[in-house]
Amino acid sequence: MRLNKIYLDGALRTLSERRKKNRQLEDARRSEVLEKLPEYGELEAELALTMTDVISSVLDKSGENDSDFALEKNRAIKKQMDELLEKNGYPADYLEPVYTCPKCKDTGNTCNEWCECLCRLTNEMAAAELNANAPLAKSRFDNFSLKCYSDKTTENSAASPLEIMKNNFEYCKRFTEEFDGKGSGILMIGGTGLGKTHLSLAIANVLIEKGFCVVYASVPELIRRIKSQFGKDNNDGEDDSTVSLATSCDLLILDDLGAENSTEWCVSMLYEIINTRQNRRLPIIVSTNLEPNVLRLKYQDRLSSRMFSMKILVFAGSDNRIEFSDNFNR
Ligand SMILES: [Zn+2]
Repeated sequence: MRLNKIYLDGALRTLSERRKKNRQLEDARRSEVLEKLPEYGELEAELALTMTDVISSVLDKSGENDSDFALEKNRAIKKQMDELLEKNGYPADYLEPVYTCPKCKDTGNTCNEWCECLCRLTNEMAAAELNANAPLAKSRFDNFSLKCYSDKTTENSAASPLEIMKNNFEYCKRFTEEFDGKGSGILMIGGTGLGKTHLSLAIANVLIEKGFCVVYASVPELIRRIKSQFGKDNNDGEDDSTVSLATSCDLLILDDLGAENSTEWCVSMLYEIINTRQNRRLPIIVSTNLEPNVLRLKYQDRLSSRMFSMKILVFAGSDNRIEFSDNFNR
């Protein structure tokens, strides 16, 4: 995962708040134990004294002080303290330092490298900014209604829109439950207002709650952002762009493919993003109002074959029926 430096200051502030909260938690735990078990405080004072003995015996060259004896005493007191905690129902590490990320001890740095937790924070901040305009809160699995889908079959399909949409709904829920940040993704095809955006945002909601970095963007908006950043580079040459976020987040949701002004540059950029993610085995959800044959013509085989390699969900409804011939479902 890469570090999105635009958000570095904000992410470091979050780490500093985490450290502060964890110190407060440590202090609260300590006060609680000392209040409930005053003997723990006495043992602690005794332990401090034996520490002094250990140090003096090590420094004493005359050999008059026995360092083994002091060490033994020190260990015995520590053992008594651990047993006292255990006997009173506290976990063994209850008074140990608390870290949200034990790997970097909430500093954001491990062996002179940015820690994964810091990279994740900067990416989450970038995703939150991009997701700010998406109606995330309104689109959940529990308020997705199947009532508006007809249970009558049509001449184009053996299954009714209701059956198709029930399957789509179940598939999206399963996708969310089984999501582990790896895999190919979903291509959602169907007319406007059939629930593609609702279901993809419902997936986003659950996964964001689970702690995954999810980026939702309509394709025209994503392209506009990338264009506005194109050629801009920060001082140290690191790539902080939307492209970097789109190619590295846990799940990318590209809504309304086909609504953008698809120039050759735009098609290459979309290919770059989708291809990079598929090479990294990072999932994508693409939704489009375009019919499969139009999709193939508009984005050529190179890009469309990438999209058709994903799980295809056709969204059906009485107003926006689309024909979906078998030869696309490969
Ligand atoms: Zn960390």
